[in-house]
Amino acid sequence: SNMNGRRKEEASRAAFEEAKQYLPGGVNSPVRAFKSVGLTPIYVDRAQGSRIYDIDGNGFIDYIGSWGPLIMGHAHPEVISAIQETAAKGTSFGAPTLIETEMAKLVCERVPSIDVVRMVNSGTEATMSAIRLARGYTGRGKIVKFEGSYHGHADSLLIKAGSGVATLGLPDSPGVPESVATNTITVPYNDLESVKVAFERFGEEIACVIVEPIAGNMGVVPPLPGFLQGLRDITTQYGSLLIFDEVMTGFRVHINCAQGLFGITPDLTCLGKVIGGGLPVGAYGGKREIMERVAPSGPIYQAGTLSGNPLAMVAGYTTLKLLTPAVYDQLEERASRLAAGFEKNAKELGVPVTLNRIGSMVCPFFTKGPVVNYDTAKASDLQRFTKYFANLVQEGISVAPSQFEGMFVSAAHSVEDIDATIAANYNALKNL
Ligand code: PMP
Repeated sequence: SNMNGRRKEEASRAAFEEAKQYLPGGVNSPVRAFKSVGLTPIYVDRAQGSRIYDIDGNGFIDYIGSWGPLIMGHAHPEVISAIQETAAKGTSFGAPTLIETEMAKLVCERVPSIDVVRMVNSGTEATMSAIRLARGYTGRGKIVKFEGSYHGHADSLLIKAGSGVATLGLPDSPGVPESVATNTITVPYNDLESVKVAFERFGEEIACVIVEPIAGNMGVVPPLPGFLQGLRDITTQYGSLLIFDEVMTGFRVHINCAQGLFGITPDLTCLGKVIGGGLPVGAYGGKREIMERVAPSGPIYQAGTLSGNPLAMVAGYTTLKLLTPAVYDQLEERASRLAAGFEKNAKELGVPVTLNRIGSMVCPFFTKGPVVNYDTAKASDLQRFTKYFANLVQEGISVAPSQFEGMFVSAAHSVEDIDATIAANYNALKNL
């Protein structure tokens, strides 16, 4: 690692104390507070490529990548200069611009299930709007989601949610009305039998199933063979829509997203993270017949002051253009090297670890495994994870401060970065 000696944290600690006076918990998104691991949050000063540097002068090899968007690495020169050139012409107009059509065309080309796409400002907006569309299109009220999946913080989707909700061990969030919660049916991930039971009971009332085609918010949990096809079949049978929430997996695991990797065609797809190239973007799209029900071509309302923002569009567009098949090959090679190194370390040191990985999404669970759903993810030794995390920080490695999040390898991670991370992982496991 490039952090010589122990982490310095005086400046970060002072910054956090001040922030707590003005921001709830000192942050604008819960996991950033490092509450569950009991450490001082890392206050970032700047980042470049695979590295982030904090205000105390520490450097870290980073596997958070802004929680997924930065697949090309931090501050990629082409992305930054595209943003700068665009910003010089003005930052927002609230009127159509050419880059919006270019961006939509590229998304439609790369994701064959998407004929028409609407840009929004976050993953939360994408899923919330897709759910409204599914309800409006089918005229039905209930939705099915999976335990430990996170689809953003819209009321109907905050039920048995993963990610930060799981990290903080919160039960279903206060503030979500009972009337909303009763319309959300939750079933275990990878459990087609439970989905069938739900449809046998409520099939005619179910507007949609929303699923992360690779679960990434209970740690990384790949779909078992047949699971996604089973969802496709059952939703078709009952006239419900199948929504793939590819906010995390979209353009991360494959040039055609997870649906391209697995060969399954959803009715609607939600995107975010990578398509914004580090700026605030989300999107939802799908079959023309369904998408044309969105205003102004149809009656289902959805809008946004900053939607299709030119800076966000050009950052996303430039990122997508950089994502060639060769980049995905490199991501696969680097991430598999990382995973193999972690597995070897765990074995050598006798620490029970289950390593789940698809493409550049990597997750070591502190359990014998296998990890196939939220319950088996929760079987992980969370105290051990907390110690491991603290050790990794001292080794100069930045990962999400939660067992229920994966690591993201980027195109900026060199073989040397990967090998340094494997060595750091060894030390972190040895000192548990
Ligand atoms: N869906 C998935 C699968 C996600 O991983 C996330 C964010 N981690 C969201 C939706 C919500 O996106 P945002 O944080 O941009 O609202």
